[in-house]
Amino acid sequence: MERIETCNSIWMLDPALMQFCRVPKDVDPADAVTGRWQPYFRWEEDETGAFRVALDGNRTRWLSSRRHVDPCPRCRQEATSEVVMPPPPCSVVGDVLA
Ligand SMILES: [Zn+2]
Repeated sequence: MERIETCNSIWMLDPALMQFCRVPKDVDPADAVTGRWQPYFRWEEDETGAFRVALDGNRTRWLSSRRHVDPCPRCRQEATSEVVMPPPPCSVVGDVLA
């Protein structure tokens, strides 16, 4: 189980079951176990702390966010957003798309 803190949320990530749970930061993380878990299909993170999860098998819907750092220039400026984008080129390699 991995715990990732962003500016406004805490993400609980279970790589074994490929599911995650996102709870607002003002909620006790202990309550996250009762939160709603969602399946994810891919997890990507880069060295800057930006990360995203694919919400469907075709990787067309992603949730993206960024790790909170201290000091944090982004706090209160950027909310987690759901974005629609094409699959990243790197993930296409190896996939057979007819
Ligand atoms: Zn922050």
